[in-house]
Amino acid sequence: MIKTLLLIFVFFAFVLKGEALEIVYPKTNPAKISANSTFFIGSTNPNDILKVNDTEVKLSPLGAFAQVVPLEIGINNFVISSGEKTINFTIERPKPTISSPISSTLIKYPIMNNFFVMTDNAPLRMTPVDGGINRMSHLSKDIQLLINGENGGFYRVYLNSKLNGWVAKSNVEQKKPEEIDLLPATIIDFNIHEKKDFCLYEIDLLKKVPFVVKEENGLTLQLFNIKADEKFNVEDNTLTLNFPIQKLMGYEAYYEGTKFVLKIRKPQQLNAEKPLTDIIIAIDAGHGGSEFGAIGCCGDKEKDINLAIAKKLQEELKKSGARVVMTRGDDIDVSLADRVKLARDKDAAILISLHANALPDGADPNKNRGTSVYYYHNQAKYLAENILNEMTTQLNTQNDKVRQGSLALVRSTSNVSVLIEVAYIINPDDYALLLDNDFQSNCAKAIVKGIEKYLSN
Ligand SMILES: [Zn+2]
Repeated sequence: MIKTLLLIFVFFAFVLKGEALEIVYPKTNPAKISANSTFFIGSTNPNDILKVNDTEVKLSPLGAFAQVVPLEIGINNFVISSGEKTINFTIERPKPTISSPISSTLIKYPIMNNFFVMTDNAPLRMTPVDGGINRMSHLSKDIQLLINGENGGFYRVYLNSKLNGWVAKSNVEQKKPEEIDLLPATIIDFNIHEKKDFCLYEIDLLKKVPFVVKEENGLTLQLFNIKADEKFNVEDNTLTLNFPIQKLMGYEAYYEGTKFVLKIRKPQQLNAEKPLTDIIIAIDAGHGGSEFGAIGCCGDKEKDINLAIAKKLQEELKKSGARVVMTRGDDIDVSLADRVKLARDKDAAILISLHANALPDGADPNKNRGTSVYYYHNQAKYLAENILNEMTTQLNTQNDKVRQGSLALVRSTSNVSVLIEVAYIINPDDYALLLDNDFQSNCAKAIVKGIEKYLSN
């Protein structure tokens, strides 16, 4: 009887695991990849021998693998075999095309031109480059810009005699000569409103002008093209105001009509025993719905792992007294803008976005492991450091560094925002951790500890 049961068990274990060879990356066969190497990611029966073109490949206890293969220009054929199954895989590496560099030289305009911003949230950049850590500010619709040159797809924005910015041509529109009003804006009024959690600084202007808010000595605000006014510090048509704040925990700069508003979160009174008490924290489980994120070796989707950890983090944060907002609690599509907006609308002081890392072609998934935490604004760097420190020491994951990155979820200033790449979903060892229930729980606990340390220090 026992023998029969054992046989049935073995039979089911074999059938249920469905351990035939599966390749999850490259996603298509045949595939077209431009890099000089790529990798096969997948799984097979851990007891079988896996070979890629006669080279035996290391399997993790789950049967997961990541095998880097070099790519020659032209057609590359691979024979991947394990147990009974053989897959013939074809990858084409196209000839590199020599792209002629787009001519981008600075053209200075002899006179100042008058443009208006046509869209909300248009980046004002330090360089005429679409990407990287080069954002000075975000412009809203109807802000008047003085344009004194162009370079490629960008106009050069005159801010003052020492400072220019760059705005994408597609974000602005020139006004007809009769509408030209290059005169600096007049300050009509200045008011301070103290609310329970925020302080509002309101500057009434005759028209909307560009501004920059810098995180230095607290916050430094500069409003440009402002008419000289003896009541305020206006020099070079620039109004400069400094707000010395010890610990920045979110702020927003925006217009209400032609009234400029700087909204700064007041430092919160912390409960010494339970520093998270009543702190509003937004948790963002990356991807969801039709957006799978990266795919793990055995076919698990990043979106599901992110959500599992997000729910455990939600529980841990609630236990610590925090008020939690989830950008998604189910497997649904949510746009990046809606995630950021929800965190802002719910007044979250902290935003934690959860992801699992992957790599592009050309990298080696076996040589990349560990946890990294991304931030964009300086106010979030210290939170990123605390979370990374707790995660790498408590989970014993490799320290894959705190990094500054221009990602939508960390670019908002209204909350202290970080994005955590918990571990590499395409590294077989990290992948096994990401699926492990205890690892996920410990991950949530480490993040809570990191937030508590950030708040208390
Ligand atoms: Zn992701």
